[in-house]
Amino acid sequence: MEHDIQQIVYTADEISQRVKELAAQISRDYAGKPLLLVGVLRGAVVFLSDLMRQITIPCQIDFLSASSYGFSAVSSGCVTIKTNLSEDPAGKDLLIVEDILDTGITLSHIQPMLEEKGANSVKLAALLDKPSRRKIPISLDYCGFVTSDRFLVGYGLDYAEKYRNLPYIGILKPEIYQK
Ligand code: IMP
Ligand code: MG
Repeated sequence: MEHDIQQIVYTADEISQRVKELAAQISRDYAGKPLLLVGVLRGAVVFLSDLMRQITIPCQIDFLSASSYGFSAVSSGCVTIKTNLSEDPAGKDLLIVEDILDTGITLSHIQPMLEEKGANSVKLAALLDKPSRRKIPISLDYCGFVTSDRFLVGYGLDYAEKYRNLPYIGILKPEIYQK
């Protein structure tokens, strides 16, 4: 797996340091509030599991999964929720946790959907942000790293369901895409 990586962009140490900083900020901002972390499957699993262990206030976790289609046909895309929350989000302060904010299509669909379910607040956290790729204007409340427009793998991010378990984030050798 490591042989497929051309360059490491964020090392495991850099990620871990940044996750600690984000968790400290979240712990301060949500002190005394019923915090519910909502992980977007599957890419956010690694980030969420590290983030929650650095958060020092009580919090609950839940998950949902979404898939988007129709990028070319409709500018806003079409997002379907494949797995919904198991808990009722009403009255809770939700923080949606994503691996990466790219076009914004997924999060711009999920955020209002959860607001309609009676949450106190719905904010957004992602480890990575690729603002140059945005198709829908949306911004993060908590962002790990702003990154340029290149395809990244590792630390939850996949290419064809592979490389999610790499402990760092990197870019693949060009020949991997040709396989
Ligand atoms: P979007 O913001 O709706 O375009 O969707 C973001 C989703 O696209 C993320 O949750 C990832 O699953 C996927 N994605 C975007 N950029 C990358 C990348 O560089 N590597 C791996 N997955 C990506
Ligand atoms: Mg994802």
